[in-house]
Amino acid sequence: MEGEITPTPTLPVDTRRHVPRTDAVLADPRLAAAVDRLGRGVVKSVLAGVQERARAGELSPSDVAEETVAALPATASALRPVINATGVLLHTNLGRAPLSAAAREALLAASGTTDVELDLATGARARRGRSAIEALLGRVPAAEAAHVVNNGAAALVLAATALARGKDIVVSRGELVEIGDGFRLPDLLVSTGARLREVGTTNRTALADYASAVGPDTGFVLKVHPSNFRVTGFTGGVGVADLRGLGVPVVADIGSGLLTRDAALPDEPDATGWLRAGADLVTASGDKLLGGPQCGLLLGRADLVRRLARHPLARALRVDKLTLAALEATLRGPATPVHSSLHADPGRLRERAQRLAASLRAAGLDCRAVASEAVIGGGGAPGVALPSAAVSLPASCAGPLRQAVPAVMGRVEQGRCLLDLRAVPEDMDDALAAAARQAGEAAAAPPVGSRPAASPGVTPAPGRSPGSGRDLGPSAAGRAERTPPTGAHDPRGR
Ligand SMILES: *Cc1c(COP(=O)(O)O)cnc(C)c1O
Repeated sequence: MEGEITPTPTLPVDTRRHVPRTDAVLADPRLAAAVDRLGRGVVKSVLAGVQERARAGELSPSDVAEETVAALPATASALRPVINATGVLLHTNLGRAPLSAAAREALLAASGTTDVELDLATGARARRGRSAIEALLGRVPAAEAAHVVNNGAAALVLAATALARGKDIVVSRGELVEIGDGFRLPDLLVSTGARLREVGTTNRTALADYASAVGPDTGFVLKVHPSNFRVTGFTGGVGVADLRGLGVPVVADIGSGLLTRDAALPDEPDATGWLRAGADLVTASGDKLLGGPQCGLLLGRADLVRRLARHPLARALRVDKLTLAALEATLRGPATPVHSSLHADPGRLRERAQRLAASLRAAGLDCRAVASEAVIGGGGAPGVALPSAAVSLPASCAGPLRQAVPAVMGRVEQGRCLLDLRAVPEDMDDALAAAARQAGEAAAAPPVGSRPAASPGVTPAPGRSPGSGRDLGPSAAGRAERTPPTGAHDPRGR
């Protein structure tokens, strides 16, 4: 039982006085350097845990310094890198889009003092984030102007506050979505002092519904892409192109941040397409399909963007230099990890899964390569299944995998822990294999004093088809047929 440790016969019964004192251990040059790097509190708390284990007889007092050095975290933040092997490309619990190397470098370079609001040529103050805005407009020439705020919700709040406070926002009943974790678009919009004027029904809304609701009290018509669910059957909506004729501004929330059409996601709206269709303002997230940092994009008519940017609320929603740097590098830089995952070649994923499975089998693990299906998640492309491949391990590995370094998050399906490779960059395969070996050992022989593994925490498998999990022997190539998922959406994937 935890806490009840029988003293090991080879150790003195009272090891307490032999456990080196904190000051003495911290004098070790390696730990003194760690104090400079991580801060005294961080190092002391790691040391305290190691001393506790020594007192409990789990390790020799002479190893306390060594063990503490080994247990030090990589950074002074408790946030740990996690390999996303869930098969959900944009996993909200894992921070949505992973940044490209270009974005990470730009972010780091901007993290000291930087010319975010200064013209170095003249020494005068300059427009904050101007180069990120230029990059955005370079990618979306259909927009006259752009503004960046903290996230997609903030973009909507700013638009509603600046354009519709005390007025009506006319919106289809079928588009009043819950974004996730209990945040509902209608509540968000009403919190700004705007009134919601719902039109149509859940499944069908006609242009006449909008037309009869629009009047002198209308702030704007809102078009929302229902990005985390699909309504099928007897449905009907009104496109942006038809809404433009109503004589009031059309604000369109695309959600995902796709700037231009992506052939892999034919039903996903993009900023350019909706602006060309007649939207006056498009709002989107930066950390979904765009693959950048968390931020909210506002693109469209220059006069409207200016009104938003000059509204007092804009100051409360403004982004920091780190976000601006990462966003600009995402926009100007090479393909993002999200883009690479989305367009990964299923054959290549299969080869990687087979290679990883073979190496883990050679290390003695119960492991095989299986067919899998990945999803976009994070509020994008509901119902789209991406053929993928996974490494299948015993479900008992799930907990130890999360505790490995780096941590690995898979998903448990039909009694197996699947490590789906679609969202795992190929250069992480070796780290993934190392983590799986650690986890395999831990699952086979839990160390003394370790907590029993909690129930294998897993991502619910959104809309998995029964095709997922089939063996991927070499002869299975090409067998991974696409089975459309049931249309269920992942409540945690946003
Ligand atoms: C994700 C999403 C939002 C919220 O964006 P955040 O960046 O998460 O604040 C709003 N609307 C739609 C349609 C979305 O998909």
